[in-house]
Amino acid sequence: MSSVLVIDDSKLFRKQIADALRKALLFDDYREAEDGLEGFKIFSDSKPDLVICDLEMPHMDGLKFLQLKSVRQDLQDIPIILLTSTQDRLAKLKSLEQGASDYLTKPFDAAELVARVRIHLKMKKLQDELKAANEHFKQLSTVDPLTNLYNRRFLTETLENEIQRAKRLQSNLSLLIFDIDHFKQINDVYGHQAGDKVLVAVADALRETLRTYDIASRYGGEEFVLVLPGTPLAGGQIVAERLRKAVHALRFPIPMDRIKVTVSAGLATFPTKRIADFDTLFRYADEALYRAKKNGRNRVEIMLGNMNSELKST
Ligand code: GH3
Ligand code: MG
Ligand code: MG
Ligand code: MG
Repeated sequence: MSSVLVIDDSKLFRKQIADALRKALLFDDYREAEDGLEGFKIFSDSKPDLVICDLEMPHMDGLKFLQLKSVRQDLQDIPIILLTSTQDRLAKLKSLEQGASDYLTKPFDAAELVARVRIHLKMKKLQDELKAANEHFKQLSTVDPLTNLYNRRFLTETLENEIQRAKRLQSNLSLLIFDIDHFKQINDVYGHQAGDKVLVAVADALRETLRTYDIASRYGGEEFVLVLPGTPLAGGQIVAERLRKAVHALRFPIPMDRIKVTVSAGLATFPTKRIADFDTLFRYADEALYRAKKNGRNRVEIMLGNMNSELKST
């Protein structure tokens, strides 16, 4: 389904263009406007695949139209072909400079119009595909395919930014590391696929319990790291307990119905006297996790040390 918008104050030219494009079967949706102002409104509302726009029109001409387009990020990729009735070289150059993809001189040749429209539609399609592919790769490089949580790489990059932001805003940031207890046993008894199902279920439980600006990642095999911006230690503890309970409450269908999944968690909060950077924050959370394992698993431990300088609230 492709669409075109033709803007021209001359009814005759609009008809000629429409006839040429219809004959070539290039578009399913065809719109018209009589001047730049009306045209821009239709343009920004309907976001057609291509615009053919007259240069000389009352109220708002083609150059002004391009100017309006240039400040709209969402309209940048839509090709504009300008129609000029003059032989004015400068006007043509100026329109290309201002963002037109191409121009045609009136009176135009129908075959040439169609050929140029074809080229620009094809380029637009390629560009759209490239964009979608880039998005896809970006997603692949930051998301864990099994759980759809962020991966370690994304977490590391983001955490650095979040710490800088917390420093700037003088706010807290909590880091939680969750590790599934005795996960190896689940794999050994029920198989690797069952283990994967457990990982997905735990990830879903984490995701459902978090606020939108919290960041949940699968850091490694059965290890999850959560970043909670604007959250002091006490708040982090509440979140950690809630997540621990949510995982404990998970149930699986036969034959995995006897599996009881639990997690141990370590919590550390930025900033304190001793925690001023990413590495230390991580080390403290990891050390707390180690104690949670040692003290019996299915529990949350917090970092040890002087919390005096922790901010009261954010
Ligand atoms: P602990 O309570 O001390 O954490 O014991 P544990 O068994 O959970 O820890 P351990 O580190 O000994 O084992 C982790 C296991 O996680 C071993 C590894 O095979 C498994 N694992 C890592 N990644 C995956 C995965 O993607 N899928 C599955 N099914 N298992 C995984
Ligand atoms: Mg005109
Ligand atoms: Mg582990
Ligand atoms: Mg484990």
